[in-house]
Amino acid sequence: MRVTVLSSGSSGNSTLVESGPTRVLIDAGLTPRELSRRLVHAQTRLEDVQAVFITHEHSDHGVGAKALASAGIAVYATAGTANALGLGQAKVVTAGVAVTLGELSVTPVALPHDAAEPVGYLLGEGEARAGVLTDCGHAAADVAAAFAGCDLLVLETNHDPVMLARGPYPAGLRQRIAGDNGHLSNQQAAALLMQMGAGRLPATLVLAHLSLKNNRPELARAEIEGALARLGHSARVLIAAQKVVGPTLVVSRGQVEIDVARTAQLALGLPEPSYGRAPETRR
Ligand SMILES: [Zn+2]
Ligand SMILES: [Zn+2]
Repeated sequence: MRVTVLSSGSSGNSTLVESGPTRVLIDAGLTPRELSRRLVHAQTRLEDVQAVFITHEHSDHGVGAKALASAGIAVYATAGTANALGLGQAKVVTAGVAVTLGELSVTPVALPHDAAEPVGYLLGEGEARAGVLTDCGHAAADVAAAFAGCDLLVLETNHDPVMLARGPYPAGLRQRIAGDNGHLSNQQAAALLMQMGAGRLPATLVLAHLSLKNNRPELARAEIEGALARLGHSARVLIAAQKVVGPTLVVSRGQVEIDVARTAQLALGLPEPSYGRAPETRR
């Protein structure tokens, strides 16, 4: 299984997951045009994507969903998310119930977030496991249990609480982000890992959905690496970006490697991805 974060943050989220000939996206928070541009970095065409799984209706996750459905790509979402997005043609998924496409299984996991019926996704291929866990309001025990044992975990570290409290956002928005149905702070993400326990931690972590205004990559990294050190666990920690496509990560049981050949293509100067705008207030 190969996982490439195409875009991460409040201006748009999407992650490509490949398993043999099966190609799916987790979230469509970019226009199809921008998705196509970014897929070039992963040597993939939008036409080769069979399905997209939407986590929830906020525009940074679902803005492209209708257009992808119109283009013939199967859109999967919970009933609440499909309804909120007006996606009459969606294939409805239910938390805890896996969907199988080829060798790939995709299982929604219910998350606390201020949306109709938000989920994260667990991905499995053979013995390999990966998880996409963003837009989660707090370090809930059932969420930690669901994502424990992933070899690769894309994990939200949205904000530093001090930067959020002193930052430019209006009070109501600050409260929403920090609330139980808002977003994971660096510390809450670390608390989730602590709950997973030493034996069930990922080999590689991709820190995701970082706020450009209320966080800094070095703060998120320090918090997460500190938690891993306390657990006596060494893991590769990468940070996903809003404007740059991440490396392709090859996930197998107990091991995650970077696809060096593909990453070299990126360094050789394929077109730079641009990113679309989304309202800062809905993310
Ligand atoms: Zn979001
Ligand atoms: Zn959201």
